[in-house]
Amino acid sequence: MAYRLRCDSCDLERECTDWPDANRDARDHEAEHPDHWVTIHELQRA
Ligand SMILES: [Zn+2]
Repeated sequence: MAYRLRCDSCDLERECTDWPDANRDARDHEAEHPDHWVTIHELQRA
């Protein structure tokens, strides 16, 4: 499973293969930019 992080307020876009990594990157980005909101999308790969 892979996860894509996307920020609503800037052009941040990143793929992570682990949920904990994705979560930590999202939290770090929001900590650095308190007015940004990062969403994590699961990438479905058949
Ligand atoms: Zn951002």
